[in-house]
Amino acid sequence: MRTFPRPKVIVSKCLEFSACRYNGDKIHDATVAKLAEHVDFVPVCPEVEIGLGSPREVIRLIAVGETDQLVQPKTNENLTEQMNKFSLEFLSRLTDVDGFLLKNRSPTCGVGDAKVYARIEKSPVVRTASGLFAKQVETLFPLKPLEDEGRLRNFLLREHYFTHLFTIADFRLVKQKQSMKELVLFHSKNKYLFMAYDQSKVKRLGRIVANKEHVSVDSLLTNYEQALHDLFLTPVRSMSHINVCEHVYGYFSKHLTKPEKNHFFQVLDQYRNQKIPLSSVLGILHSWCHRFENQYLLKQTYFEPYPVELVAISDSGKGRALT
Ligand code: SF4
Repeated sequence: MRTFPRPKVIVSKCLEFSACRYNGDKIHDATVAKLAEHVDFVPVCPEVEIGLGSPREVIRLIAVGETDQLVQPKTNENLTEQMNKFSLEFLSRLTDVDGFLLKNRSPTCGVGDAKVYARIEKSPVVRTASGLFAKQVETLFPLKPLEDEGRLRNFLLREHYFTHLFTIADFRLVKQKQSMKELVLFHSKNKYLFMAYDQSKVKRLGRIVANKEHVSVDSLLTNYEQALHDLFLTPVRSMSHINVCEHVYGYFSKHLTKPEKNHFFQVLDQYRNQKIPLSSVLGILHSWCHRFENQYLLKQTYFEPYPVELVAISDSGKGRALT
């Protein structure tokens, strides 16, 4: 089993940490509870931080031209400036942050799904947008893993988020060491994981590591980090996983019996048809890595991109496999 660094994650405080919601509630969230064993959470409630108590009067976003303003209908107060000021100051102070996990639909923390109303008075919703805190996160940390707890109920999005998060936390350690040797090791052990994400982007990462332009290690690591985040912009498609699994299978094919080969391709077909999870295919390949003592493959993060304890196959049922 791999050992993993602990990613530093900013989390909405009302998820598992504090009864700070507008109605005085705390939200139980199974993903946050599980993740807490593996990441260093930094909980924050921006609404409490700007002086709103809990419980408090409801606040909402309203459309004023192209901008979204944060207002409290009951008091007629406009909280936009206060919230933007707090968000900017809080986020600018952060060091070594690896990702964000925020509460959905909130006018402060919602990631793209907060309702924006026409006016401060009772009025229709005119659009959805990110809450003011989330918007600053998107501006200041455009490439970091950012999700809300609602979307993470989907297995594929959760798997993608965890993979991105634990990979860049691992890369942060490489960056701290400022070592070419560590970068080469990192790139090598992630080869098949990265291939699954995007083969052409892996080539770009490879060119950065090759460093034909002889740039400084510092610039090289910065370029690599940028390309790494770019690789994780979209989740893996199942066809890419199939390609990688066939590629790994190629290491062993000549040592396998006909029934073993048939079984493997049956399982791969079941995965292709969304009957079983990828882990069933990977389990077979991983057992062959051990059987044929392939040390190179055994080191591949593809077989365990994030702590196995976080694998939960429960799913909201929305957004099935990307084929
Ligand atoms: S969603 Fe954000 S602002 Fe609202 S209670 Fe939770 S942490 Fe606080």
